[in-house]
Amino acid sequence: MLELAVLGNPIEHSLSPIIHNFFAKETNIQISYEKILVQDEFESFINTFKKHAYGCNVTIPFKEDAYKIADKLSDEAKIAKAVNTLLFKDNIIYGHNTDGLGLILDFKDKGISLLNKKILLIGAGGASLGILKPLFDSNILDITLVNRTKEKALYLRDYFVQEIKNTKDIFHVLSLDSLNNNLDLSFDIIINASASSLYNELPNISDAILKKAHCVYDLMYTKDGDTIFTKHCRELNVQHSIQGLGMLIRQAALSFELWTEKKVNTLSCEQYMLSYLKENR
Ligand code: NAP
Repeated sequence: MLELAVLGNPIEHSLSPIIHNFFAKETNIQISYEKILVQDEFESFINTFKKHAYGCNVTIPFKEDAYKIADKLSDEAKIAKAVNTLLFKDNIIYGHNTDGLGLILDFKDKGISLLNKKILLIGAGGASLGILKPLFDSNILDITLVNRTKEKALYLRDYFVQEIKNTKDIFHVLSLDSLNNNLDLSFDIIINASASSLYNELPNISDAILKKAHCVYDLMYTKDGDTIFTKHCRELNVQHSIQGLGMLIRQAALSFELWTEKKVNTLSCEQYMLSYLKENR
């Protein structure tokens, strides 16, 4: 029996146990997967937990703490300075970040090609930092980053272009005003990695820009299948308007693979989760 868990605060809302138990059943692997509300200092919690557990997912607000305590980090975790998956093996704490790769897999499964695409990325928090490297690794044309607080977007870009070679000329930052006042601008794919939908608010992007996109993607997800942003873009007739449930499932699948070395069927898990969420609305 593999002892696993998701650690966070708050944690009650987490769908991770349902997703991982689905994978375990499918692959016939015995796991226990708990939601754990961590109220102590993260490092001391892990020091006790790792004595009996095999690994865990880590969510808000502990992803940076998990990054700091890992002995070995994946490239994605190093760049993101955040870890969402820990593996305890041979007295070593391995830290990974599967969020960005989960997003890339979801685009692939939904038939959205990233090759040579112009991307508008909204938000300059941890989620944006986590998805930047996998996006640049996917041969996109360029990324324009906007954020409510422009200074944070500039800071994130400066950090990123120093870390990842050859991104300087294809990574731009704009203020929201310059974006909305330039009617010539258009993007193939618009990714909302801000927390705006969490507050039921639309990011300040003009409909003229949104309408021209082939695909919009909101990292947030809801039980209804739509966020305020994906609903708004669908009403503007954007062809593909996708919420982040698929990303959640695929980042989980990559964690499960790290722990068990088993690949899982994310499409059937997504079908299952959609009906589970409908029933539990
Ligand atoms: P974060 O580090 O707290 O950053 C929040 C970002 O959102 C900042 O850029 C902030 O702008 C912006 N923001 C907050 N409220 C806003 C509003 N009302 N209008 C416009 N911008 C606003 O959060 P995070 O960790 O990056 O997470 C962002 C979102 O991604 C969350 O909704 C989270 O649930 C989602 N997420 C989903 C997955 C998945 O698997 N589907 C994985 C990771 C994250 P300022 O800089 O101006 O404050």
